Amino acid sequence: MKLKPCPFCGSTRSLLVWETLRGTTVQCDRCGVQGPHAIDEVAAAAWWDEVKRPSASMLARATARLRALRRQQKREAAEAKDEAERRAAPKRAQEREYRQWAADREAWLRCPVEEDTIQ
Ligand SMILES: [Zn+2]
Repeated sequence: MKLKPCPFCGSTRSLLVWETLRGTTVQCDRCGVQGPHAIDEVAAAAWWDEVKRPSASMLARATARLRALRRQQKREAAEAKDEAERRAAPKRAQEREYRQWAADREAWLRCPVEEDTIQ
């Protein structure tokens, strides 16, 4: 059965015609959308083909918007990661300083006291 592409994702290869409790429908296996539920396969296919589809230019605009949105999300995620690292940097330096201080203190405490230096 030749069906029109999925109105949402444009897939032509993942269309299944199957029976559900509510009737027979066409489902896109790629994005999961289902067409109207009909009494049989022929009616389900006819309804699927009647679903309004976006024009090629509309699809191209929507795809471009989605790509721009994804780029923006990636940029924002990278900025947030940079910011988190910048905030963590002083704390790390402080921790390093404290560890050095603790190590110096340990070394000082272990240092033997020479009798003749005590007056
Ligand atoms: Zn689809």
